[in-house]
Amino acid sequence: MQELPAQLIRLNATAHSKNDAITQVAGLLATHGYTDPAYLQGMLDRETQANTYLGSGIAIPHGTPDTRHLIRQTGIAVLQLPQGVAWGEGGETVRLVVGIAAASDEHLDLLRRLTRVLADDALVERLSTTSDPAELQRALTGQASTPTPAAPATPALAHTAQVTLPNPLGMHARPATALANLVKGRGAQVRLSRENGESANATRMMEVLALGLTRGTTFTVSSDDEATLRAVTDAIRAGLGDDLSAGAATPAAHRDPDWVPAQIGAMVEGVPAADGLVVGLTRQHAPKAIEVRDEPGDPVENAAKLDAALKAAAAELEDVIADVGARFGADKAAIFRAHAELLADEGTVQDAVAHVLDGHGAAWAYRQATEGRIAQLQKLDDPTLAGRAVDLSDVQRRVLRHLLGIHEDSAPQAAGPVILLAPDLTPSDTARLGPDSLLGFVTAQGGPTSHTAIIARGLGLPAVVAAGSGLLDVPDGTPAILDGQAGRLYLNPTDADVQSARERQAVLHEQREAARAARHQPGATADGVRVEVAANINRAADAAQALDAGAEGVGLMRTEFLFLERDSVPGEAEQEAEYRAMAAALGDRPLIIRTLDIGGDKEVPYLGLAREDNSFLGLRGIRLCFERPDLFLPQLRAVARVAKDHPNVHLMFPMISTLEDFRRARAILDSVREDVGAPRIPLGVMIEVPSAALIAGELAKDVDFFSVGTNDLTQYTLAMDRLHPQLARQTDAMHPAVLKLIALTVDAAEAHGRWVGVCGGAAGDEVGALVLTGLGVKELSVSTPQVPGVKAALRAHRMADLRELAARALAQPDAQAVRDLVRAGGRA
Ligand code: PEP
Ligand code: MG
Repeated sequence: MQELPAQLIRLNATAHSKNDAITQVAGLLATHGYTDPAYLQGMLDRETQANTYLGSGIAIPHGTPDTRHLIRQTGIAVLQLPQGVAWGEGGETVRLVVGIAAASDEHLDLLRRLTRVLADDALVERLSTTSDPAELQRALTGQASTPTPAAPATPALAHTAQVTLPNPLGMHARPATALANLVKGRGAQVRLSRENGESANATRMMEVLALGLTRGTTFTVSSDDEATLRAVTDAIRAGLGDDLSAGAATPAAHRDPDWVPAQIGAMVEGVPAADGLVVGLTRQHAPKAIEVRDEPGDPVENAAKLDAALKAAAAELEDVIADVGARFGADKAAIFRAHAELLADEGTVQDAVAHVLDGHGAAWAYRQATEGRIAQLQKLDDPTLAGRAVDLSDVQRRVLRHLLGIHEDSAPQAAGPVILLAPDLTPSDTARLGPDSLLGFVTAQGGPTSHTAIIARGLGLPAVVAAGSGLLDVPDGTPAILDGQAGRLYLNPTDADVQSARERQAVLHEQREAARAARHQPGATADGVRVEVAANINRAADAAQALDAGAEGVGLMRTEFLFLERDSVPGEAEQEAEYRAMAAALGDRPLIIRTLDIGGDKEVPYLGLAREDNSFLGLRGIRLCFERPDLFLPQLRAVARVAKDHPNVHLMFPMISTLEDFRRARAILDSVREDVGAPRIPLGVMIEVPSAALIAGELAKDVDFFSVGTNDLTQYTLAMDRLHPQLARQTDAMHPAVLKLIALTVDAAEAHGRWVGVCGGAAGDEVGALVLTGLGVKELSVSTPQVPGVKAALRAHRMADLRELAARALAQPDAQAVRDLVRAGGRA
């Protein structure tokens, strides 16, 4: 690859538009004799034919083939735009513009390097903000894989001050990120130094974490800019966004850690995805990007190659489905069934074939056909769909491997199982790696509802997701403790903490085994008051597993899952078969089917629904069903037919917010029942909107039961988006405001002889289960693996005590106080 002379790099530039950015980078190439000034037009033209956005904030504008003669010498120029510029219609922001003038295919080498850079968020971030051109030169001209050399003799910074860290949990990832952002925004240099001589660049999170700054540590902050120094020390003293009122022993975490190390040093915090506590060494797992060159050839030959690869991938997926089904159950295998459907998607295959017929190579054609679809899914700010993007990339990778003859790495190479750290993991990665090679994993991206997280729970591995890109700086072989329940990875723990974690592990294991052994006992408190513990399931295939875990019925069957992960609406007969299989599997145990709850975070792309500004407040759940009788009526008919043969079938409506909604839905159901000759079906409404709780007295006259959806009731009561990453810790159903609405609901139900269940996440959380039972809830519907634990928690408490606990919970000032109260066994 060419050299990249410093004069071809423009740092800290600004551009008001994409064309301005291209003009500037073309200007660099022309001014230094690499191109004729007219090459600019070739670059602008090329951009109108195809967007040169590469990913991760990098674009590679270059001229059209017919302007190659305007290149005098092959070269590249880099325009760094720390503030970014909007690129393309997809809303991408570009911060590194790499202008290419390549007379032949020398630029492929550069592209190869760039793809490596792309996979490394931390490196992209550095390159987009560095004030050192040598960093860009290294990354783009051959030494990218060499890590940035250890900080050379640190330049002395003129201004210094001493601060004492006030954060109860020490300098963990969140405040370290806030610090890095503050410093980057000011463009000055800042170092933190400890008395022992260790120091860190404030913009490098891992260096900062490695200092192990705990609460009360005094350290020196130095900067080359006095005002920046003042801003940084003020921010540190104010807690860098942490709540300083929380005590170290009771961190303000949404999920109370059962175990906290005595000494918290460096820590990475993310969102809990699967419970468990493990001790081990870390290992980074960055799947190599698959490079695809276009190798044009005979269309017939390439079409045959594509066909063979699709068939091989399909056959391989069948093996995966069988293997995962046998090892982890049908519900996990269903994820790969969905992959098989994505693989067979006609539109994608047709697009790929069209590219082949245009003369492109098979691998290039398939990548082209899938890439746009993946990007489209990723762009939607929606965790469910972002999860599907990962699934589609997984399928794409499988096909490309077959086309290019690439062997996938299997388990990470390490002496024993490791705590795996990765930007993200595909479901295939997670299932392939398996418990033999993994103790648990932490991903920089992803969400707790992703398929990867679901597989982790099925594998019984602790997992933390959305931990941020700083995670990727943790060196391989770092000793660590992963606490999946708290969502934390503690780095370099002390021997005493490792010992204490192992002791805690043993206790947890014993408790789990005891709960499992007693899972088939009826759900009840210590003094025998019955509380039914049911499971939330999505498909008929999940029912057997739920029963095996001790579930006493199904308290929530989310029918929308039958509509997700496919390209068309499931027909009436298909739905009926699914509901029938489920009702039969449950025998005489109750099955509560919830009508379609699409909208909000659950989108179904093929329904062509208009995007809404406030999707959680718009046409969601029952409101959408009123608008779309083509979806609602077939579903009601399918349920009503099954109810004719299975008296255990119950039905409930989601997102009821007014009496009128309920009456309208019931009238539609009544007419459907009449049509198909079905009997009366026990009918309930979900209490998940505050207004429904407030009119529960009126609703109770007409319904048979209520089921509280704490996930939504919490978001609507506290006005906190249930998916919002920064609010996740406060969006806690144990907030007394939410509990008061549940208490109102229970009182109203009891006054009319109705019963109340809870099917939201709070029912499966031990603290939640106890408080809700104390409030008078009669049924807790939880995810299958939680059934034994919830039953065990109920068995350990007397009803009178739980009632008193709930009464006191209602009088607490906030959710944390409720959790503290319950953990203290009501002695507060
Ligand atoms: C809830 O809102 O608590 C609930 C159970 O429904 P969903 O999570 O499917 O919205
Ligand atoms: Mg809900």
